[in-house]
Amino acid sequence: MPRKNRNNKNQGQSPNKTHQRQESNRAELHSRPEFTVYIDEDERAQIEKWVELKDNIETGGDLFGLWVNSYTAVVQFVLGPGQNCNRTRVSFYQDIEYLREAGNYLTQQHGLCNIGQWHSHHRLSLTRPSGGDENTVWGNMPNLGLNRYIVFIATINGCGRNTKVRINPYLFEINQRGAQLPVASGTLKVLERQTSPFRCNKVIADFIKNGRENVNVETTKETPKRKKKDYISKREIFLKPKFQKIELIITPNDMANTFYKP
Ligand SMILES: [Zn+2]
Repeated sequence: MPRKNRNNKNQGQSPNKTHQRQESNRAELHSRPEFTVYIDEDERAQIEKWVELKDNIETGGDLFGLWVNSYTAVVQFVLGPGQNCNRTRVSFYQDIEYLREAGNYLTQQHGLCNIGQWHSHHRLSLTRPSGGDENTVWGNMPNLGLNRYIVFIATINGCGRNTKVRINPYLFEINQRGAQLPVASGTLKVLERQTSPFRCNKVIADFIKNGRENVNVETTKETPKRKKKDYISKREIFLKPKFQKIELIITPNDMANTFYKP
């Protein structure tokens, strides 16, 4: 369960009023549309590649793109781990300097928003955000003025040629009354045979490699360039603030609750 919002506006209200609000939140949940994320096939492959490189330890990065509406997002560029990231089997700390520099470049020069992040739970059998992950995300969102944030959790199954990376999207949302809604699992819709025009842009690729771990890990070789105007229209560009601190920790409780028990 998500922790209670520190700024819970229900405090000090009569039991009747609080009950009405709870009923209202429940009704809102039932009418909540399905959460969907679109991603180019090559961007998904890029995440898979990074995940496979760290088979038994966490890795991660950040998601850049835009919101089509409240429950539909498009990931247009995936950032990998910076070279100064820190990781263990159950935690991942992004290289904040790398995220800051690459993120500023992508948002200010190319109009993308930092709409979420991804990280791997490798073979931990935990396909959703851990309790520590949820606390970290919920704790950061109000300070950054975010009411919506995406977390991709990647897991690995199988070995060798049968290795399969799964990516599960989750939505963290704070409603207009300031209440944290239950973390919603979503659907990842892959745009088959599509390559991000941002990934094809050599100037962007070179900038992003500077400070990145595994500089030579690219899934994209020779791919047709798409016109940038297909993606950047004359819409007003809103630069959302980025997560300055990312700590993703799995607690013993998460492990106890998720491992398969015959
Ligand atoms: Zn996690």
